[in-house]
This record gives sequence, structure tokens and C-alpha cells, in this order.
Amino acid sequence: MRVTVALWNVMTADREKPFHQAQVLDLQRMLAQLRAATEASRTALWHNCPETGETWYSDVWFSLLGYQPGAFQPSFNTFLTMMHPDDRDHTLAAFQDLVEDRVALYAADFRLRAADGTWRWIGATGAKVSRDEEGLPYLVCGMQRDISDRKQTEAKLAEAARTSEDRRQLLNNLAENAPAALFEFRMDASGLVTMPYVTSGVADILGVSQQDIAEDGNAAFRNIDPADQEQIGVAIAQSRETLAPFRVRYRVHHPDRGMVWVQAHSKPQRFEDGSTAWFGSISDTTPEVRREEELARARDHAMEMQRKMQDLALLDGLTGLPNRRYFDSRLEERRTNATDTPKGIPAAVLVRLDLDRFKNVNDTLGHAAGDAVLVHVASVLKASTRPQDFAARVGGDEFSILLAQGTQVDEARAIVHRIQERLDTPFTFEGKVCRFGASFGIASSDQGSIRSGDLLSFADAALYEAKARGRNRMEVFSNDLHVAILESRRLAVEIEAALENGEFEPFFQPQVCAQSGRLVGLEVLARWVSPERGIIPPNRFMPVAEQIRVVPLIDKHMLEVTCDLLSGWNAQGFFPPKISFNVSADRLRDWDMTRTALTLQDKGVTVAFELLESILLEEEDAVFRHRLDQVREAGIEIEIDDFGSGHASILGLQQARPNTLKIDKRLTQDITEADQSRELIQSIVGIAHALRIKTTVEGVETEEQAQLLRHLGCDVLQGYLFARPLSAQDILRWVADNGHDSRPNDVDARAGGA
Ligand code: C2E
Ligand code: CA
Ligand code: CA
Repeated sequence: MRVTVALWNVMTADREKPFHQAQVLDLQRMLAQLRAATEASRTALWHNCPETGETWYSDVWFSLLGYQPGAFQPSFNTFLTMMHPDDRDHTLAAFQDLVEDRVALYAADFRLRAADGTWRWIGATGAKVSRDEEGLPYLVCGMQRDISDRKQTEAKLAEAARTSEDRRQLLNNLAENAPAALFEFRMDASGLVTMPYVTSGVADILGVSQQDIAEDGNAAFRNIDPADQEQIGVAIAQSRETLAPFRVRYRVHHPDRGMVWVQAHSKPQRFEDGSTAWFGSISDTTPEVRREEELARARDHAMEMQRKMQDLALLDGLTGLPNRRYFDSRLEERRTNATDTPKGIPAAVLVRLDLDRFKNVNDTLGHAAGDAVLVHVASVLKASTRPQDFAARVGGDEFSILLAQGTQVDEARAIVHRIQERLDTPFTFEGKVCRFGASFGIASSDQGSIRSGDLLSFADAALYEAKARGRNRMEVFSNDLHVAILESRRLAVEIEAALENGEFEPFFQPQVCAQSGRLVGLEVLARWVSPERGIIPPNRFMPVAEQIRVVPLIDKHMLEVTCDLLSGWNAQGFFPPKISFNVSADRLRDWDMTRTALTLQDKGVTVAFELLESILLEEEDAVFRHRLDQVREAGIEIEIDDFGSGHASILGLQQARPNTLKIDKRLTQDITEADQSRELIQSIVGIAHALRIKTTVEGVETEEQAQLLRHLGCDVLQGYLFARPLSAQDILRWVADNGHDSRPNDVDARAGGA
């Protein structure tokens, strides 16, 4: 220490002090060395005496700050003045620490103003050096260096650190606020598991604290459903091996939330030390899974419904029996397999069943009773048939049974007997007996008919036969029936041809006023005038014409031909006041018919449409009623044909508002013998007149009948007594012979006589 102080003194003192020669030489050498060293390292030397304020700086110090050495006399104050205000406090504090012996070494970094006005960073150190021998107070001696470069680097580093901290903060913020929860999962080469990074979301979803996961990566698996843990293990192993993304959905039993579905996504990355890290996210997909489950349930339900709908499409909703579609496909199936049957055994036996008086049940007891009857019949069929038999409801009150393969006709009869017996037991609905019967037709495919698809029509033919023979019975399709069917088929072909050849002709039956006997109208009745077979009446061709649906064509033809005839009649002085046409209700819906009638009316004749009494029973049909109104508005009269044969109600009459009721000829037939018919006609006339409806009586054959009807107040009479239906030629002759010649201005006749 002593050498050092001496050296210091030599180096720094400007005053001369006596030294030994050798000492001086030594010191001078050391001094030179030190100066060289400090200059080379650009290290400034300084000292300061806190007590006296004595201050000294080496030349290097001046040059560090860009001043000429000794450019000014430095003092502690100058030093502080040069210092950056921000640095003064901590520099002084560090110095004070040394002065007050809290530290052995003073060290401070601060900025000094250089000659060019810029700031230079200076790093200063110093220590106390005593000058005891000389009795002087101690000095603080030290060094100062320009540390601007270091400071700049430090500043850059600090800036970089700040930036990276900012980034880290930002990422953390993002991660914490992202909807997915993020994690880093690691597995080292030995298989040890850690989770160095998890956001709070991960802890939240897994129901494990962040702390627990940080301490032990396995904690993250704690609440996972045991059944899913194995699957996760396999997925991790695979992903680790192949480095394929890890994607798993699993269940977590959350301590607060119960069962939670978790979806994990992550990408693995392998490191040189053999460890693998997965960076990824998990999310709570419970709502999605619930939605998927709901969707799946809805899909299942929809499929179930579809199946049910299909069943429904094949089953009758009321009785639960197979419906017509199902039956047809079954029959078709049997038809295609028909070749397989051994000889002598029918390929198929079919039973057709049609209820009798079913409509009556509906009309009198209501539709609920009708439904109950159908359900009852279905249950009887189910109970009476064998499992392999196939019973179906093929229409309103129609049923079919396709009997099991190999069934003989006798067995079919036995089954029908069983059904009949069961149906014989009275059936009640809400305490009321439902009276109905059942007719059966049986056909077997013995005739090879199944292959031609005729089996069904044969069974139908047998059924019609049963009905025709008085209902409530069974008929088996026979050869005679077959012949009849073939006959009607031939007839159908002939009718078609006859229509084309214009062989249908209108005949005319006069109608006369009951009181005056004057001609008031003609009824048009169709005749088939065949070149081979002569004149054929409607009852011979109408049923078949109906089957092949050509009645409307015949009706239209009658109207058109009559229209053509009228001009000729008029030319010969015959002006019929009114002409009536038989029109099927179906035909009335067609405006075409009315249009043709109007052209006839334009020729000065009143046209009437005769509609069967059954139209009065038709259920409320807006279209039909509207059409009826239109017809009426067009000036065409409406007559109800065969009145008294059915069940027309007064209400029906009020709705249809016909001009005339044509009393059925079956009532006329026995009025002279049976009081009942007479009374019936009398009440019909009474009601008709009350409703301002006229009455025409058909089938008047005797003068006695005519007398009586006149007496009962009937308005118009029609029947063989006056004339049979006559051809266009004959009617002219009849008119002439009977003096019924009329004129277009014959107001009395045009008004209808009464
Ligand atoms: P309808 O409309 O009741 O016609 C009256 C039927 O009674 C006619 O039979 C007629 O010849 C017959 N008749 C007339 N006076 C007497 C009589 O005094 N005694 C007896 N027993 N019968 C008498 P027709 O001409 O054989 O016609 C039968 C049925 O065919 C008609 O019954 C009608 O429903 C239908 N029809 C006839 N022509 C046509 C037509 O052009 N179109 C339509 N849709 N049906 C027609
Ligand atoms: Ca008629
Ligand atoms: Ca009639």
C-alpha cells in the first residue's frame, strides 16, 4: 500500500518531494509503465479528497471528453455540473457509501457532457487511499473509462429483452383469451411425461389446477374417463412414432360440471435428445356432441317414421289389414311363381268379400258405426284364416283373401263358412245392432287364369253373381260365369265398334199432360240398332257400357243426334215443347254436355236433364252443386229419375231444387192393387207440390192407372198407354196420328201442360 500511495503521489503530485535516487529511478520506470498502460487502455485516473475538495483528473480523462489536457481546472462541482442530471443522485449515493465506509469500493456509471455537447457514458471506480504519513486526509483514488459502447450494447439488449417480454405477454394474453385452451405436452426419450405450459383454460376444462399439472404432467389425465384413457395412450404412442397430428375426443368427469366431452388437437415435434413435444389445444365440445347425438336421434326417428310410413302405405289404417297395394303385389308375386305348382293343385285360390247393406249402416248409425263394422269384419277374417293366408282390405267395404299356396277350393269354402258363421253373430255398436251381410266370390286358378291375370276378375264375377242371386251368399267361379264374362267382353268390343259406326240411336217416348192429355215432352232413350241383331234395348248394353265407361259417349251422341233431328222435325211442322235426356251424374260435371244442350235450346225447345235419385244422396260436393246451379242458370231443367226407389230426403230435394220428380215405374205398376204404393205416390206429390216441384209418373200402362194418377194430382204421365219409345220417324207419325202437332208459339204446351 505504501508503494502504491507513493507511486500515486509521484504520478499525480505536481509538487516536488525529496526521494532517494534509486527509489526515484524505480518509481519513474513504474510511472512510465503505468502511464503507457493507462493511455493505451484509455483509462483515466482521478482522485478527490472529500475533506478538502482537492480534485485531479489525468490527461486521458480530458481527451475522453474531447478536451485538451488541462483545458480547465476540474473540481468536484465541475464534475457534477458536467454530469447528466438523472445520474447525479445514484453517483453521489455510491460515493457517499464509500465515504461512510458502507462499501470498500465505489463504482458508478454516469453520463458526462463532452466538448462537442454529446453525452459520454463513463464507468467510474474508486477506493479510499490514506495519506497517514504525511498527516493529510485520505484521498478517493480511481479510474474512469468510456463505456458508451458497452452501454449501447446493454441498451440494445435491454430493448431486446423488453420486446421479447412484450411478445411473451402478448402471446400469453392471446392464449388466455383464445376460445381454445393451449398446452405443451412433452414426453422424454424414457417416456416421462410433463406439461411445461398450459393456459388456465386447459385446467378449467380438465378440472385439474394449473399448479397440479405443472408439478406432474400426468395430473392432466386424472379426470379422463378410464375407458378413454387407453385410447388416448394408443393415440399418443402412434403420434409419437409417426409424428402425425394427435387428434382425439374423450370424456372427462369434471368435478363441477359432470361429464364433459373434450376434443384435443396437437402437432408433435421431435427433439435431438429423443423427447417429443406436442403443441396444441383442447376444447370443450360437449354442446357439439350433444347436438350430434340429437341429430343422430332425429335421424333414427325419421328413419323409424319412414319405416312406419312404409308400413302404413301397405297397411290399412283403420283395420290394420294389408291394403290393396300390398294385396296386388302379393298376387303379382304369386302370379310370377305360378309355374312352381304341382299339377292338380291350384296355383292360387282367391276369395272376394263385399259387405251388403254396409252403406245403410253408415247412413243410419253413422260413420263411427261403419268403421266399427269394418274393424269387426277384419278381426273375423284374421280369426278365420290360417297364418299363411293373406287377407286384405282392398276397398271401402271390400276384402280379398289370397289363400295359402296349395289350398283346394273345398278348403276355401270351409274357410268362407267359418267367416259366415262368425259374421252371423249380431254385432252391436254403442248398444245398437249393425245389420249388414256379406257376399263372397271364390275363384281358383285351375283355368290357368292366374297367369293371364284373370283370377281377380273371375273372383269378382263370382261375387257379382252371389250379389245378383240375393246377397249374403257365396258363389264359386264356374264355367257358366266364365262364359258370361267372355260374353260381356265380346259385347264390350262390339259396343266400341258400334259407337264408332254410329249404331246408337235416340228413341223418343212422349210425355203427356195428366189433365189435358196434350204432349208436353219427349224422353230420349238410347237404342242400339245393330245391322246383325236388330234393335237392342239399354238393359242389354248399359251394364257393359258402364264397365268400359262409354256411357258418357252414348249420352253425348244422343244429344247431338237429337239436335240434328230437330231441324227436320221443325221443317215438318213438329215442335216438341221439351226434350229430356238421361245424364249420368259424372257426365254433368262436364260442361261439354251443357254446351250441346244449349244449342238445342237455341232452337226453341226446353231441355231437361234426368238425373238418378242417388245424386240427392251424394255427400256435400261443392263442385257438383255448383255445376247443378250452372246448369239451372243456363235454363236447363233438372228432373230426378226413378224417384221413390231410393232414399232421397226432403233436405236433398231442397238442396238439388229439381224442376220435376219422375216417379219410379215400379211404384206405378201396382197402384191399382196396393194401397201402400198409392199412398206413397200421394205423399210424393204432396211434398213435390209443397216444394213447387212438378211430378211425372213413368210406366203408365193402363187407363185405370192414368185415371188414378190424374186424381192424385200428378202433372205429367209417361208410359206404354200413350206410346212406347219411338224412332225419330215413328214419333212424327205418332204426333200426326194423335193430333199432337204443336207450334213454337204454343205457350200452353211449352209451359209444361199443368
Ligand atoms: P229410365 O230412364 O227409367 O227409362 C224408362 C224406361 O222405362 C225405359 O226403358 C222405357 O222404355 C221404359 N218404359 C216406358 N214406359 C213403360 C211402361 O209403360 N212400362 C214399362 N214396363 N216400361 C216402360 P229403356 O228404354 O229400356 O231404358 C232403360 C234404362 O236405360 C232407362 O231407364 C235409363 O236409365 C237407361 N237409359 C236409356 N237411354 C239412356 C241414355 O241415353 N243415357 C243413359 N245414361 N241412360 C239411358
Ligand atoms: Ca229416364
Ligand atoms: Ca225412370
